[in-house]
Amino acid sequence: MTAIPVSIGVRAAPDSRWEETEAPGSPLIDTHGRVHRDLRISLTDRCSLRCTYCMPEQGNEWLARASILTLDEIEQVARVAAECGISTFRLTGGEPLLRADVVDVVRRLSRLTTADGAPVQVAMTTNGIRLAGLLPELVDAGLARLNISIDTLRRDRFRELTRRDRLDDVLAGIEAAAASPLRPLKLNAVAMRGVNDDELVDLVEFALRHDAELRFIEQMPLDAGHTWSRATMVTRDEILAALRKRWRLEEIPGRGGAPAERWRLGDAGTVGVIASVTAPFCGDCDRLRLTADGQLRNCLFSTSEYDLLPVLRGGVAVAERPVAIDRVLRACVRGKLPGHAINDPSFLQPARGMNAIGG
Ligand code: SAM
Ligand code: SF4
Repeated sequence: MTAIPVSIGVRAAPDSRWEETEAPGSPLIDTHGRVHRDLRISLTDRCSLRCTYCMPEQGNEWLARASILTLDEIEQVARVAAECGISTFRLTGGEPLLRADVVDVVRRLSRLTTADGAPVQVAMTTNGIRLAGLLPELVDAGLARLNISIDTLRRDRFRELTRRDRLDDVLAGIEAAAASPLRPLKLNAVAMRGVNDDELVDLVEFALRHDAELRFIEQMPLDAGHTWSRATMVTRDEILAALRKRWRLEEIPGRGGAPAERWRLGDAGTVGVIASVTAPFCGDCDRLRLTADGQLRNCLFSTSEYDLLPVLRGGVAVAERPVAIDRVLRACVRGKLPGHAINDPSFLQPARGMNAIGG
């Protein structure tokens, strides 16, 4: 392997034997046998909302603007990732649609192919604000799938929960997505006790009316304000119990590496639950994350990161960068633990909030 004359900037030293055993461009398989196929790319930590479970109302520490990856840098990393078998890129944040060049990001990434020539898929998770205006361009640029987050259909609640009065903009985004060719369409909702747990059926019905699947997410300890409490989290079993009062639920087998368990609601449609806390799915995790400031993460909850900035900006010759990026990707995969430890008394919440990790 070519020697790279620069530190790859690994913050937490992983097992270094990867260097001898894995060739550049080979699949990203970790020490527990998980093959990585999905890279979540955070385009910014900024957001048009301030959801209580994600960001504090004030005093958030923003990433330095100079550290935010450029379109070219994102593409360089994504190209190498695709060559190593990453076949889905999910753009997230923060709010990805706040990024001025978001359409160009979609266009450039959706042109990439994996090593065997298969096209990659570019998906996005968004709060829906600005979506109505941007959707035609995003579809034209190659966007394949959308998840839109909506936790309540009530305006006063929305304002309290997100600290912004923008429900109408989100609804306009969902209407536009429903009218677009992007399918399957998914709506995300974090279920919270005493906040929106009386709206679970309403949210599912709303999704069904928009030809979408509602995905409930158990609230995770990832808020920048560190206010998470197990008591306010609504569990998977509680969500299912609420839905069973309205529908006959039939489990859909064959989840693969997907985070959501899914059920058929009679013949009305489907629903999903992402039970990261009470039913972790780490054993099948195939995801990596790239933060807006160039840090690779192998888990939402990891406390170590693998820094790509020294490779992208530290003087590595352009021709040598793909191999150097490959090495950092491989180190990140090598360092992946078998699972998160939310339910362990020793659990330490990561320093970054969800908006800076990329959900
Ligand atoms: N701003 C976009 C949005 O809200 O869809 C994309 C980024 S957001 C971090 C991605 C997803 O993470 C959203 O569906 C959001 O509801 C979810 N999320 C944020 N904080 C969370 C937490 N503490 N627990 C569970 N889900 C969370
Ligand atoms: Fe913004 Fe999404 Fe976090 Fe809400 S969940 S504050 S919309 S990044």
